Amino acid sequence: MSARRQSLSGPMPMEHTDDTNSRRPSTSTRPNADASHHNRVAVARTRIDQVTHHISPRLPSTLAKDMSTQSFKQAPHKLLVIPGPIEVADDVLFANAHPAMSHVSPEFIPVFGDCIRMLREVLFAPNAQPVLTAGSGTLGWDHVAANVLQPGEDALVLNSGYFGDSFADCLETYGAKVDQIKAPIGSKPSLDEVEAALAKKKYKVLTFTHVDTSTGVLSDAKGLGELVKRVSPETILVLDGVCSVGSEEIRMDEWGIDVVLTATQKGLGCPPGLMVLAASKKAIAAFEKRTVPPNSYFASWSRWLPVMKAYEAGTGAYFATPPTNLIYALHASLTTITKGSPSLEERFQQHVATSDRVKDFVSQLGLQQLAADGKKDGAHGMTAVRYPQGVKATDLLPKLVAKNIVVAAGLHKQVKDEYFRIGHMGVTVVDKQRGDIDYLLNSIKEALAEAGYKP
Ligand SMILES: *Cc1c(COP(=O)(O)O)cnc(C)c1O
Repeated sequence: MSARRQSLSGPMPMEHTDDTNSRRPSTSTRPNADASHHNRVAVARTRIDQVTHHISPRLPSTLAKDMSTQSFKQAPHKLLVIPGPIEVADDVLFANAHPAMSHVSPEFIPVFGDCIRMLREVLFAPNAQPVLTAGSGTLGWDHVAANVLQPGEDALVLNSGYFGDSFADCLETYGAKVDQIKAPIGSKPSLDEVEAALAKKKYKVLTFTHVDTSTGVLSDAKGLGELVKRVSPETILVLDGVCSVGSEEIRMDEWGIDVVLTATQKGLGCPPGLMVLAASKKAIAAFEKRTVPPNSYFASWSRWLPVMKAYEAGTGAYFATPPTNLIYALHASLTTITKGSPSLEERFQQHVATSDRVKDFVSQLGLQQLAADGKKDGAHGMTAVRYPQGVKATDLLPKLVAKNIVVAAGLHKQVKDEYFRIGHMGVTVVDKQRGDIDYLLNSIKEALAEAGYKP
């Protein structure tokens, strides 16, 4: 593990302060030409090693990977602390640089199969059916709309911000009849409100946003699972986990969650490009009982479920090409999450501890959060912070960029100019050697002072 730790090299504080080109646009990840050149040489060297190992028929590919990742170090870059995409560990980025592979080759098929198996571990869902396809988190909504619901069926959307609006919009696009319970900004529909709605009408599907990335509010997944089991056990409970899988505890089986949908670029710590979903036996049964075929071509489970089963069985199958390199990246990340240090449970605890630290820091500075009670109702992988009086986005965010920190602006339509969002997920949280959180918090304090704010 210590070798892996050493190889995980994030943007260290020194690299940020030494950055002489900090006025470049935030997309720049190459602070100076020298570093960039050295890095390219290093990358080329490890790439040659990797290719050499790769074509050696006797060397197991995992061994080749271990040998070469130790020397790969990504270029110095601005610290990306938005609520996704997040910082990607060196070994994951390196895995993404895998040589081109056939998506049906005997070397690739078990890698895909492992991703399916490890995803079940992350979600505590030994009986769920994962589905992984090219796409992003949004495509998970299409999967729910096209496979679990039939046109004209009723869905209840719990709306705790921007992503609730969008999920509802997506379901309606496929012909579902959608009711919503909308919470005021910074809170979520209460279990009582949900119970009352379920008592009034039978819903085929109930969806909620586990972490609404526009407000930083965390929903009570366990409580909703218990509620549905108690008052409407036929209802299929869908958790939008795009901003929570990997950073929040989700016990799909035990809590009675039927669909979890996510993407690779948030708590799973990979580059964007994969939709990741898991469906319970109950959700699959609902799909199998359909009387009309799924009303999507690319998102149809009729096409994808046989492919997923084939990859897991070690045979492989084709409907549409998976992003093979991303599957390698996901494999590296899921291996760290399920088998590395910290353990999965410790990973969740560390996200809670870091979140508490960020939220305490924000309060001590005299700043408010969007979540009504940040430490109680707030997500553990992000924090939404209101600007203090007299400070605007244009005062603060460029000052952070000048310190090589990229946070996110507001997203909720009604208040988007009033707050900013900090992501604290993945390697930024669990790899303490990177020093990301210290650097982030110090920089926020300094930038606020530069913007004229006095706590
Ligand atoms: C980011 C996000 C999405 C959308 O995911 P994409 O990968 O951008 O398509 C959906 N829901 C939530 C809660 C998110 O945070």
